[in-house]
Formats: sequence, C-alpha cells, structure tokens
Amino acid sequence: IAPPAKGAKRVLLASPRGYCAGVDRAVVAVEKALDHYGPPVYVRKQIVHNLHVVDTLAERGAIFVEETDEVPEGARVVFSAHGVSPEVHRSAEARGLQTIDATCPLVTKVHKEAVRYARNDYDILLVGHDGHEEVEGTAGEAPENIQLVQGPDDVDAVTVRDPDKVVWLSQTTLSVDETMETVRRLREKFPNLEDPPSDDICYATQNRQVAVKKIAGESDLVLVVGSANSSNSVRLVEVALEHGATAAHRVDFAREIDEEWFNGIATIGVTSGASVPDVLVQQVLKVLADYGYGDVEPVITAEEDLMFSLPRELRRDLKAAG
Ligand code: SF4
Repeated sequence: IAPPAKGAKRVLLASPRGYCAGVDRAVVAVEKALDHYGPPVYVRKQIVHNLHVVDTLAERGAIFVEETDEVPEGARVVFSAHGVSPEVHRSAEARGLQTIDATCPLVTKVHKEAVRYARNDYDILLVGHDGHEEVEGTAGEAPENIQLVQGPDDVDAVTVRDPDKVVWLSQTTLSVDETMETVRRLREKFPNLEDPPSDDICYATQNRQVAVKKIAGESDLVLVVGSANSSNSVRLVEVALEHGATAAHRVDFAREIDEEWFNGIATIGVTSGASVPDVLVQQVLKVLADYGYGDVEPVITAEEDLMFSLPRELRRDLKAAG
C-alpha cells in the first residue's frame, strides 16, 4: 500500500471481500428453485445473514420461516447455508416436506467431524456463539457429547469426562485470533486436547480477516458492509479495530453512513462480509466518492476461485427437466 499524498482522501478496498462459495451456492439455489418450481418456495431461517439478499428473494416469492412447522405439509423448503440439526431433517420428513439442503459443504464438514468424534465417545468442545444457527445445527449432531465454549472466559468452567479424549471444533465464522486464544487456554487445561482434522474456520472467513488486517493499519476509518446478525461481518469490525483502525463501523446499506464519521479522516478502508453482494459495496463507494473519497485503491491479499455445485436435490430435478 503506497503512502497517501499529504492530506489526500482515499479508499483502500479489501479483497477478498463479499460473497463466499457457500453463500453464492445457497442464494443461487433459492433463485433456481423459484425459477424451476415457481413460487412459493419456503426457506427455513434467513438463507444467508444479509437483509438485502433476504428482501430480494422474498420479492421473488421466497417465504422465510423460522421453523419447518410453519411450512404447509408437502411443500418445498430450503435449508439455509448455516446448516440444520438432524432433528430438523426428521421434523421436515415427518411433515412430508420436500427439502433442498443448502447447508454450506464447509459446515457439513464440521457436522461430520462432530458425528465421528461423538461416535468415538469424545467430549467435543465447540467454540462458537450461543444461539447462532450454525452452532445449533452442529451441536444437534451430538448433543450428549458437545459443550459450547464461547471464548477464553468460558474455559475455567469447562469439565470433561476423560481429559485424554477431548477435541475442539468451531463455528466457521469466528475471529481466528480469538479462537486461537480460546484453544490455547483450553490446551493449558487439557494438554491432550486434539485439533480438528482440518481448519473449521473456513477459507472465506480467514481470507477476509487477513485482508481487513492489511488495510486496517493504514486506515483512519474502516467500513464493513454486512448485517448485524452476520457473524463474520461483525468479526471484521472487531479485527479492524484490533489491527490499527482508529474507528470501524458496520453498515447494511450506504444510507446508514454518517457524515460525521468523516471528520478529519484521510483514508477509509472498505470491506464486506461473506454474505454481502458486491452491489452494496459499490453503493457505499459511490457515497464515499460523493464525499471526496473517489480515489479507490484495491488491496488484494488472496485470489479465490472455489465454487460448490448446487444442492443434490435441485441438481437432480434440473437435470430431469433437461
Ligand atoms: Fe461456507 Fe464459509 Fe461461506 Fe459460511 S462463510 S457459507 S462456511 S464458505
């Protein structure tokens, strides 16, 4: 990142930012379901944690519900990218629902790890946030074996049956640094704590945090586009503040930007969470340009080309229709 000319206003635009492969797949799944089967298509929970995405799909005929018992018997329902517990699959089956499972494959990977360690009778310490849908889904795979650890402060209260049979797993969208601190504390208590077979915090979360760290140190202000219930977006604000940004704000929409944030500010960093379509970032850049921050410098820390195929049920029906 080149130093700015004295007094010059500029924007550092983080990359990667925005949509990850799991979000893209889930949103396209609902769009294709609406095209193929016609509305209404029910969706359990927000398909991804972004207000704009949810509103846009609702306008096209998606009906968002909290639970499967709100879906008429026999109707079609999409499960969100965050995953569901086996209990949700059972209740959908009992109601004769036609399900399309848009759970991100990287969340499914964590579910499978939980099932495998539970089968081997491990105590599983799941690092994650209480009440988050992904945590509910993962914990539901092995409720007898899993206990939630929300952060370093929870470690003192953790007890296990056999300290030689303990593994930690995690939510996919956590702060990497905070999670490592939690694990360090857990390992002090349980020296034989096993690591997950591969990273549970997903590539997209990690890449977006690396990118925001790179711009944060050079930025007086960091703007993160993302919704309040988007775990990875909220983490980006925290990471920006921890890595040198003087101020950081999360906005869903460009209209939330407050002119007062710009007082005395030369460099503004911009990024977005994994559930945010780039159109929302472009709208933010337009508002920033209106305030004189029209000089945009992309800061690229990684290239991403991962793509996931559509949910199996949908691929089958699309293929059958030719
Ligand atoms: Fe999948 Fe990661 Fe995107 Fe979540 S943030 S949907 S785990 S790729």
